[in-house]
Amino acid sequence: MHELALCQGLMAEVHRVARAQNASAVHRVRVAVGALSGVEPGLLERAFHIARAGTVAHGARLQLEVLPARVACDACGVQAEVPPNRLLCPGCGTWRVRLVGGEELQLMQVELSRATDAALPN
Ligand SMILES: [Zn+2]
Repeated sequence: MHELALCQGLMAEVHRVARAQNASAVHRVRVAVGALSGVEPGLLERAFHIARAGTVAHGARLQLEVLPARVACDACGVQAEVPPNRLLCPGCGTWRVRLVGGEELQLMQVELSRATDAALPN
């Protein structure tokens, strides 16, 4: 499963952040997934549940944000969101466009609590 490998990469990043912040628990992980990344959100979620087991993020929720496909056109200068199955310039109609968004898989935010937070009075 492609998503499991991707998820293990994401979890390695989450753990780096958690260690740097001296986290006792990770509550939420926000990930941006491009519409053209080939990642299946449902599969990524399942992989996340496997990858988080026994780690500092074992109770974390995964929040996915799907980013649209974006193209830039050198012919007419338009840059716009387009449907993933229609990578044409909406300005002049050419297919000779550059893809500038939609392929990413990116860790956006890690919500965590620190070991010392629990000791603080409310
Ligand atoms: Zn154009």
